[in-house]
Order: sequence, then C-alpha cells, then structure tokens
Amino acid sequence: MRECGIIRDLLPLYQEGMLSPDSVEFVEGHLKTCPDCRAERELLRRETVPEETEGAAEKAAEKAAEPGLASVRRKLLRQRRRTVILAVCLALALATALFARMTERYYFPEPQGVLTLREEGNGTMTLRFSGNVTGAKYFNQAAEGGGRVLYVSVWRTEWDRFFGEGLSELTLPEEDVEAVYFSPNNGSEDILLWGEDQVPGGGVITLPRLALVYYAAAALVAVAVLGVLAFALRRRKCAPWLRAAALIPAAYLLGEFLTLGLETVTYSMERDFLLTVLTAAFLYPALWLSLALREEHKRRALPGEL
Ligand SMILES: [Zn+2]
Repeated sequence: MRECGIIRDLLPLYQEGMLSPDSVEFVEGHLKTCPDCRAERELLRRETVPEETEGAAEKAAEKAAEPGLASVRRKLLRQRRRTVILAVCLALALATALFARMTERYYFPEPQGVLTLREEGNGTMTLRFSGNVTGAKYFNQAAEGGGRVLYVSVWRTEWDRFFGEGLSELTLPEEDVEAVYFSPNNGSEDILLWGEDQVPGGGVITLPRLALVYYAAAALVAVAVLGVLAFALRRRKCAPWLRAAALIPAAYLLGEFLTLGLETVTYSMERDFLLTVLTAAFLYPALWLSLALREEHKRRALPGEL
C-alpha cells in the first residue's frame, strides 16, 4: 500500500506526540488495518524505551499519551535542569582539583636554613622553622636499640602562602628517642638531625607510596573492559548499566589526573587519595549527565523528528 510510506514518515512524530489530532487519527486508522506498520511502530517504541525508563513518573505521564507541546516542554525543562546540575558538578570537581593543586606539598629537600632542633629540659625536642615552611609532620619507628627513631618531613603549600600562616615550631613529645632524621621525600637519603646514626655508613630512605599508581592502572583496565563490554552489548538491555559502571573508574582516573597530574607517586597518600575520590565523586554525575545529554541531542537530531 502506498499509504505505508507516509505512515512510516509520520511514525516518529506520532511516537513523540507531535502530530495534529487529524494526523493522529489518520495514523491510528492505518495502524488498525496494517500489521506491517504496527510492527514498525512497535520497533520504534522499543527503541525509545531507554529514555522512558528514566523516571517512573515521566513514564506514566508519557503512557498517558499527553500529546504535543506539554511533552516537548517537559523534555526541555529536564534538559535544562540536567545542564545546570552538570555545570554545578563540573565546577565542584574543578574547585576540588584546584584546591588539591594549591595544597600540594612541596617537601624541603634539606634542613639547612629550614629548621633548627632544640632539646627541651624535660627530654623532649622542639623543631623551630624558618623561612616559608607551612607544614611539618613526623612519624616514629622502633629503633633496634629499643628506643624510637623519628622521621620529620617539612613542606610548604601555595595555599598556605596565600591563606594560611607559616609554621613556626613542632614539638616532638616522644620519649626515649634514639635519633631524629630529616626526610627530604625525594628519593635521596634521610639526613640525621640528632642522635645516633641508626645505619652507620648506609642510607635510610623514606620511600613513596605507590598505591595511587596501582589504583590508576586498575581504573584504566576497568574502563577498557567495561567500555568494550558496553560497546559490544550496546543493543542489549544491560547497555546503560554497563555504561554507567564504566563511568565509575573513568571518573576516578580523571579525578586522579586532575588532582595529581601524572605524578601519582606520593608521600602524602591519605590526602592525595581523599582529594582524588572527592573530585571523582563530583565528576561521576557530570560524566553521566553529559552522556545522557549527548544521547538526547542525537535522538532529537534524527531526521524527520522536528
Ligand atoms: Zn502500512
């Protein structure tokens, strides 16, 4: 039947509820009599199902066949809302990453001109800082002789230079200290500040943590695997889920890159990991929404739809 060609042209618009009542009547009249076009329409309906599954309320509303302008307006509203949320999430992710960059620790490579160590009367020690030190910490280890060995790291951050105060001193309240080392945290040997050298003639090196390198590698593999799966099964029902899952490691990877750059060997593991995860948490909805918006755009750009 020649009419079928016309009906096929009209079906997308019919599906979107954008036909005039007369045309709707015409299409429905034809559908009643033509199984081929009914099948075509069924196919079309199934293709648009992923969009409808997004909200039960929206689905119900669409089922009620509320035609024309209202449905278009609702779609535009939803699109605008998504664009705003996308922008907010992106801004938060970038702000977190910027904060991470500004609070990145630049460790001082040597103690000269940076600190002096003073023994207090009660057996403890105090580190006095000079120059633009804005942060310091130490960790202690059991010495072979039974006492403690302290390792001190000293750094500055851009953030503290602008917004914080310099650090003037740090008390080491440990008892029974055998030695205090200065850790340059750059791969070279720790420098003895006080006490007895624990490894005479040899070098003590504070090693960086490599976990973030492994996390990034694992995320990369996960993105690849889930991405390939999502592509291979793109016609299946599980495809949206696979895509959503692939975005998790993708957001992590991007988050790590934004917060740390390619330098993922770290001497401040907890801080770096936390900021990476926070950035990724903002990036995830942003990525998800940009995919959804792109898909909606593609769908709208189909020939004959507007
Ligand atoms: Zn037909």
